[in-house]
Amino acid sequence: MPNILLQNATIVTLNDSDDILTEASLAISDDRIAAIGETPADFRPDEVIDLSGKIVTPGLYNAHTHAAMVFSRGYAEDMPLDRWFNEGVWKLESALTPEMVRWGVRLAMIEMIRGGVIGFADHYFYMDEVAQAVIESGMRANLAWAVFGHEGGEVGVTVPETVDFVRRYSGAANGRLRAMFGPHSPYLCSDEFLARTAAVAVREGIGIHIHAAETAGQVEASLAEYDMTPIELLHDRGLFETHTIVAHAIHSNPIDIAILASSDVNVAHCPSTHLRYAMGVTPVPEMLAEGVNVALGTDGAGSSVAYNLWREMRLAVVMQRQARNDPEALGGLTPLRMAARNGARALNFRESGVLAPGYQADLIVIDAAQPHYQPVHSVAAALVWSTEPADVQDVMVAGRWLMRDRRLLTLNEAEILERFDEALAEMMAKPLAQFKKYEVDESGSEIDHKF
Ligand SMILES: [Zn+2]
Repeated sequence: MPNILLQNATIVTLNDSDDILTEASLAISDDRIAAIGETPADFRPDEVIDLSGKIVTPGLYNAHTHAAMVFSRGYAEDMPLDRWFNEGVWKLESALTPEMVRWGVRLAMIEMIRGGVIGFADHYFYMDEVAQAVIESGMRANLAWAVFGHEGGEVGVTVPETVDFVRRYSGAANGRLRAMFGPHSPYLCSDEFLARTAAVAVREGIGIHIHAAETAGQVEASLAEYDMTPIELLHDRGLFETHTIVAHAIHSNPIDIAILASSDVNVAHCPSTHLRYAMGVTPVPEMLAEGVNVALGTDGAGSSVAYNLWREMRLAVVMQRQARNDPEALGGLTPLRMAARNGARALNFRESGVLAPGYQADLIVIDAAQPHYQPVHSVAAALVWSTEPADVQDVMVAGRWLMRDRRLLTLNEAEILERFDEALAEMMAKPLAQFKKYEVDESGSEIDHKF
């Protein structure tokens, strides 16, 4: 790959001292950052790009999604979570086809790349299709094949089959792919199955991506059955003995947070979904203060509508400020750090998420000359509060441009839109049947955690 020199840019490094460089250069050699700030005298660029008026940041990571679920966008609106599962998404999914995943995930990747997202932690079905799409798109991803496991066995793929899947794709596409186990949740998997999954994960060195502690009712049901919160149960059954992404963890008490902080557990915070379904306020400031790696996710499009990490950043902030009457909560670069650096760590891409020599050349260029961006008194404030997906001009992963001047270089947008429509029509023509039932919330009672 050519040597590329970016010049005259404002560079947000997200390094340990949150350095923001102005009028700075960034030298890229092959898939890595060779230098930042000043250009070494011996660096011979094949291409020099002037980025005056632009801001360069690490690329964003969507730490929890079901990307192919674009088909459910707007399908079941204005209803509580149990009805959304039972009358909405779990009915639609009874007609799910591999073709829908194939084209749905590509549609999602167009939206993510156009919005500056370079990697996603995906938790879904027909994951071979998703892996192929990731290889083709040039994105990074950490893929988990969702499994519902009970005493009688697994629904869908089995544990040995998911081990094969993980082995097939871990480290594939020059290291852009990772794979882990995806037991759905403690409310849809038996605790014996969770313990078995954890034992295999630890033995094989495989990570786990799971949903937990989404509602107060789930915590109450877990306490009634096990005398443990969902987080305590996952810890007790061994799931935190490996690298783990816990999606949501909204209803986490101080003991839960201490458990999360003491293990290699990464929380994927998904504000759009949490707010739209009135699920509660995650104690994000407490988690960050205790050292929990909190990243941002969109969840699936059925619950969040958009795969827009800029929106998630802003909602993460305003949710905390409103709920705790604290206009200083999650200030400065914290939301961007969660979306980029913490996301890279959550997905286990340790050489990404920071712009520094030796790190992967994973970056996005934002056009800060747009009218709605003026004036830029504070780069951090402009990034967090003014950036829309359409302001992302260029996207680079491992030294390769996936988008230049808003033009996608790896995906054929027109073909994907057409094939997605065909796959959707085929799916919607099939008879729908509810194949799972969500009923853990029926008590409807509240659990009040104090901080
Ligand atoms: Zn989810």
